[in-house]
Amino acid sequence: MIDPEYILRTSKQYGLEKQMIKTMEEAGELIQALAKYWFKNASLEKVVQEIVDVELLLIQLKTSLEIPEELYQRILTANIKRFKERVDSGTKNW
Ligand SMILES: [Mg+2]
Repeated sequence: MIDPEYILRTSKQYGLEKQMIKTMEEAGELIQALAKYWFKNASLEKVVQEIVDVELLLIQLKTSLEIPEELYQRILTANIKRFKERVDSGTKNW
């Protein structure tokens, strides 16, 4: 578990613009790692490293963008519901 105070300090230290740019960069690295993993040119550990990089930045961004927890949970719940409906219907399409 990450200390919320630490996340807040990080957000203030780097600022929103740098965090957004870094998030795009890390998302690109995750895409690359997944593609390489798919073609057997990357290890699972590399994929996990990139997932963690992106996750940490998403946590920071949620703080920096001051996303209300209620909004986040409402969208998360709706998306999970939609996903569950697709899975339960047996479709193989996203
Ligand atoms: Mg990375």
